[in-house]
Amino acid sequence: MADTIFDRIIRKEIPARIEHEDNLCLAFHDVAPQAPVHVLVIPKRPIASLADVAADDQELLGHLIVVATELARKLGLETGYRLVVNCGPDGGQSVDHLHVHLLGGRRLGWPPG
Ligand code: 5GP
Repeated sequence: MADTIFDRIIRKEIPARIEHEDNLCLAFHDVAPQAPVHVLVIPKRPIASLADVAADDQELLGHLIVVATELARKLGLETGYRLVVNCGPDGGQSVDHLHVHLLGGRRLGWPPG
């Protein structure tokens, strides 16, 4: 898989506001936030997108979701938030390294654009 900007953030080659790190994932604030809280949770093992997920990724994907919910609590999103995973060009994915968006801190519209 080709190196992306997120691999460089994992390797600390470019700076990011890191909110959480463990052996499986990294969570950092989005450089162009779409809500008062906008954090990206990414696996350290590069998976390009949801379209590349395999059965043995189940535990890792569950971990990303659990970390996102812990961050939502930590960042005070008690009135609600949204987790989003964009997949492929039609899904609005712009970085080919799977990531979970944690968005909150304002009332989010539905349906998405
Ligand atoms: P996607 O559009 O692929 O679902 O989301 C990619 C996200 O990565 C976008 O929200 C974009 O603002 C964010 N992003 C892209 N480059 C960087 C970067 O260098 N640093 C950080 N912190 N976020 C980035």
